[in-house]
Amino acid sequence: MIETKGLTFSYSKEKPLENLALQGIDFKVKKGEYVAIIGHNGSGKSTLARHFNALLLPDKGEVLVKGVSTKEAGEVYHIRQCVGMVFQNPDNQIVATTVEEDVAFGLENLGLPPPEIRQRVEEALQLVGMSELCHCVPHLLSGGQKQRLAIAGVVAMRPECLVLDEPTAMLDPCGRAEVLELIERLNKEEGITIIYITHFMEEVRDANRLVAMKDGRIVLEGSPRRVFSRQGFLKTLGLDVPPVMELASRLRAEGLDISIDILKVEELVEQLCL
Ligand code: ADP
Ligand code: MG
Repeated sequence: MIETKGLTFSYSKEKPLENLALQGIDFKVKKGEYVAIIGHNGSGKSTLARHFNALLLPDKGEVLVKGVSTKEAGEVYHIRQCVGMVFQNPDNQIVATTVEEDVAFGLENLGLPPPEIRQRVEEALQLVGMSELCHCVPHLLSGGQKQRLAIAGVVAMRPECLVLDEPTAMLDPCGRAEVLELIERLNKEEGITIIYITHFMEEVRDANRLVAMKDGRIVLEGSPRRVFSRQGFLKTLGLDVPPVMELASRLRAEGLDISIDILKVEELVEQLCL
């Protein structure tokens, strides 16, 4: 679906080989996969995300979306339609005065016929569970609802891949849970490829694969179980492990016979009850 080869990028164009924000990233995501990218502030996650739909272009190396380079100027439109982006602040993504107009905005820009726009808006709102709010004013919604609305606007464009850059960072725990549940469903039921960027470690255990970044490089990659079993290394990246893994490792240190790769509360409970 998306592949980067030796992707290198600097924001300072006068001295392009200094202050590299990305340093030779080789990354691949397959169709239907759910990949989470984790890393401390400034590690390059957002810069990488912005390369996936040609918002930024590599200084060296390349980014291929379904085999097409993002540097091919004539393809940017198709690439953006294929790879949708959702950002951190839902307020910045609201463009209209009612929920349904907001979802319709991108479709109107595509110049689709009104009946198709209506149908896609209905479908997208149903998918994010907001059909009954279609006439509401977006600014009066909760944070979680606003972010689901932003996702509806992108999903209505029928992307094959969704890139979400810390979409829950500004939400309360309820909003975070709503958005996470929706993303999981878009992946499992709609088959949308997901690239999920976050620094909340407890949010990524459902991903197929984790990619950890530091200083513009990928430094660790694998299943959530494998990545989180490297607690010491994650600490050097400034990252925690999910609280249940922390608890499991403390209990292990106290001499309890608990396996190293506990990921969920239910698994810990099961081992404690044995
Ligand atoms: P993350 O999303 O992991 O916090 P970023 O991709 O935002 O990391 O940042 C990677 C590096 O690029 C950091 O050193 C950051 O200071 C720098 N950077 C990010 N955005 C800009 C920008 N618009 N102009 C200049 N430097 C930037
Ligand atoms: Mg960021």
